[in-house]
Amino acid sequence: MKYETSKSTCSYCGVGCGVLVKKDARNNIKIEGDPDHPANRGQLCSKGRNLHYVVQDTSDRLLHPSMRWSRNHPMQKVEWDTALERASAVFKSIIRKHGPDSVGFYVSGQCLTEEYYLVNKLVKGFIGTNNIDTNSRLCMSSAVSAYTKTFGEDCVPVSYDDVELADCFMIAGANPAWCHPILFRRLEAHKTSNPQVKIIVVDPRKTASCSIADLHLQIKPGTDVVLFNAIARRLLEKRMVDENFIVNHTEGLENYQRLISETSLRRAAEICGVALADIKLAARYIGNATGFISMWAMGLNQSVIGVDKNLALLNISLLTGHVGKPGSGPLSLTGQPNAMGGREVGGMATLLAAHRNQSSEKHRDEVASFWGVKSLPAEPGLTATQMFEALEAGTLKAIWIICTNPMVSLPHSGKMNKALQKARFVVVQDISDRSDTTEFADLLLPAAGWLEKEGTMTNSDRRISHLTKVLDPPGEALPDAEILWKFAQRMGFSGFDYNHVGEVYEEHCQLTKGTSIDVSGLSYERLINEGTFQWPVPYQDHPGTPRLFTDRQFYCKGGKAQFNTPREILSGTESTSSAFSLILTTGRIRDQWHTMTRTGKVNKLMSHSSMPFLEINPIDAMIRGIQDGDIAIINNNRGEVRAKAQVTTKIREGVVFLPMHWGKILNRDFGRANNLTTSRYDPISKQPDFKYAAVEVTKFVKPRQKICIIGAGAASFRFVLSYRELNQIDEIHVFSNESHPFYNRVLLPEYISEHLQWDDLVKLKEGELKKLDITLHSST
Ligand code: SF4
Repeated sequence: MKYETSKSTCSYCGVGCGVLVKKDARNNIKIEGDPDHPANRGQLCSKGRNLHYVVQDTSDRLLHPSMRWSRNHPMQKVEWDTALERASAVFKSIIRKHGPDSVGFYVSGQCLTEEYYLVNKLVKGFIGTNNIDTNSRLCMSSAVSAYTKTFGEDCVPVSYDDVELADCFMIAGANPAWCHPILFRRLEAHKTSNPQVKIIVVDPRKTASCSIADLHLQIKPGTDVVLFNAIARRLLEKRMVDENFIVNHTEGLENYQRLISETSLRRAAEICGVALADIKLAARYIGNATGFISMWAMGLNQSVIGVDKNLALLNISLLTGHVGKPGSGPLSLTGQPNAMGGREVGGMATLLAAHRNQSSEKHRDEVASFWGVKSLPAEPGLTATQMFEALEAGTLKAIWIICTNPMVSLPHSGKMNKALQKARFVVVQDISDRSDTTEFADLLLPAAGWLEKEGTMTNSDRRISHLTKVLDPPGEALPDAEILWKFAQRMGFSGFDYNHVGEVYEEHCQLTKGTSIDVSGLSYERLINEGTFQWPVPYQDHPGTPRLFTDRQFYCKGGKAQFNTPREILSGTESTSSAFSLILTTGRIRDQWHTMTRTGKVNKLMSHSSMPFLEINPIDAMIRGIQDGDIAIINNNRGEVRAKAQVTTKIREGVVFLPMHWGKILNRDFGRANNLTTSRYDPISKQPDFKYAAVEVTKFVKPRQKICIIGAGAASFRFVLSYRELNQIDEIHVFSNESHPFYNRVLLPEYISEHLQWDDLVKLKEGELKKLDITLHSST
C-alpha cells in the first residue's frame, strides 16, 4: 500500500512528540513517532500511538452548526451564515446594552497558536475587554506567575536535552510516568545508563514515577513549601550552595533566609509527615549535584498556594546556581500541547501578547498600535473560574467556549452548572457532541480537529512545531481560526481579512520582534521546511535557543534573578473535620487525557481503567468497613461521587484520590471528581485548587429495590425475570385480577427463578415494556 507521509505533533500533553502521519488512498491513517523529532526521537506513548483511532472514528463529531432561539426551543440545524449572524447579533446587542465586559471567551491550551492569537486580538483589541481566559489557567498559571517573579518573565530555561546532562532530579507534584511518558522514558533511560543519577519524588501518592526514585518523600498534601524551605535551610546550613551565583546574579536572599530559619528541620519533618533523615538526604543529593533539574506539574500548580509552592521550588535552583548551565534548571511540565503557545500570544485574562506586561501603558500602546486600535483595556479580565462566577451573578451575560469542557474540568461542578444555566447566551465551539458542556449551548459550532487543520504549537521546552492538514474535516466543520476571523468580520472589525492561517502566524511573529520571545526570524515557510525550533529565533538563519540565561542575565530589573519569600507555607484551602475527615486529591491516569472526549473513544485506552476509582489507604478503608472493590461514596457539602474502592498503601493515610477524567456516565454524574472540589484559587495566579478538598467516604449500600407490576401477565414475568437476571431487584410485587400463584403477594426473585425455567426468560427492552401497558414503579 502506498502512503503519503506528513509531519505533525501529538495533540495531547505538553511533551510535544513529533508524529509521522501516513495516509493511504482511502484516507486510512497510520501514526508513527517521528525519529527526527528532538522531543521524542521516534517514540510515542499509548495515547499518541492510538491517535489514528480518534481521527478515524467520527461517530461523535459535530457536523453542522445548530442553534436554538431560546432555552425553550429545540436545537435546530442551521447554515454557517445564520449561525455567525446570530452570534454577532447577540454579542453586539449585549455589548451595546451592558458594555464589553459583559461578554467573555473561554478557550483552551489545545488551540493552535494562531487561534489563540486571533481570539486575543479579537477580544482584547476589538471587543475591548480582557475577559479571555483559557483552561491553561487550570494547568500552568501558578508556574507563569512564579517564573515571572523569579526570572522577570514567564520562561522555561531548559531544554529536554538537559535531561541527559543532569545528575539529580526532583519530581514534585507530578507523575510524568503516566502524564508525560516520553519525557519520563528519557529520564528512565538516563538513570538506567547512569545509576549514580539521583531521583527524588515528592508526592502524597506512590505513583508509577516512584519506580525509578532513589527517594520518595510521601508528604502530607499541601506541605510542599515547608519541605522545599527545609531542604533550602539544610543546603544553606551545610554551605552546599553556589555563593558566587547568589552574590552576583540574585537578589532577595535575606528575607527568604529569615523565613526558612523560622522552622526547624525537625518541625518541618513533622509538618510534612516525612522522616527528618529523608529531608537531609534530599538536600545532600541536590547539594552534591553537578546538574539539578526540578520537574513539576499540577501537584504544585493547582493549589491556593500554587505560586508559593512554585517560588519555594525555584528558590532551590537559585540557591544552588542551577540555572542557565547544562543539565540545570526548572522544567515545568505542561499538561496541554500548546499551553506555552497560548502564553506567547498573551492568551489569558492577565497577560498581554508577546510576553508584554498588561499593566504597562507603554506595552498596551505598542500592541494597540500594531493591531490598529486606539487602546487596550488596562484592567485584568475575568479568569476561568471568575468568568463562571460572573455568569452565575449575572454580570457576565454571554460566554463563547472553544475546545474545552468546563462542565467536567472546572472545580465545583454544581456551581458551573448553575452558571451555565443562568447565562443569557452560550456558544460552544467543539469537535465532539460527547462534551458535557454542549447541552448548555444556545449556539453549537462544529470545529475541525487534529489533522483537519494546520497551524503551530509550542511544547514544554519552548519548541515550536508546524502541524500539517492531512484530512478534510467531516460535514461542515471548519478550522477554529476560520470560525474566529469570520465572526470578527461579521462584527464589522477590520484586520481580520486573512486567507490562510500562515498569515496569522507571520503577524504574531512580527509582534514578538524585539521581545525576549522574538520569533521574527522564524517564518512559516522556514518552520515547514526546516522543522522545529526553540524560541527565541530573532533573525533569519538563527538556529533557535536550547537554553536560556546562559549569560546569567535575567529579565528582572538590574538583570538579577529574585529570591521570593513565599507568603503562605501551608495550603489552607479547607480544614478537615469530624464530618469530613479525609483530604481528597484529584489527578490523571495513564491512558486518558482530560475529559476523555477523545481518548474515551479508544477501546484499547479504556482497558487500562474503564471506570472511576477511589484510592484509599487500608487503615482509612478498615475504619469505614470498606474492602477492595466495594463501591464507595465520597461526599462533602458540594456534592457526591461514587467509585470503586482501590485499597492501597500507595496513598498515605488520611488522603484519598480520584481521577479527574470522568464526566457523565450514562447521563449520571456520579463519577465526576469535580462535584467535590473547591472553587477557591490562588490569589495571584487565580489557579483553582484541585488537590485539597475535605471529604468523607462511606461504603455504598445498595438500597432495597422493589418493583411493583400492575396488570400482570406472562410477559410481565419475563420482564421481571430479565431484571432479576441483572440482580437489581430485591422484591417483586405483582398485582393482578388474574389467578396465579405469583400474583398479589410479595415475591423474592429467588422464588420466581425456582419456579420458572431460564428458557422462559425473554429480555424485554424498554421500548417493548411500554407496549405491554403495564405500570412500573421502582422505589427504595
Ligand atoms: Fe503525546 Fe505526550 Fe504521549 Fe508524547 S508523551 S505521545 S506528546 S501524550
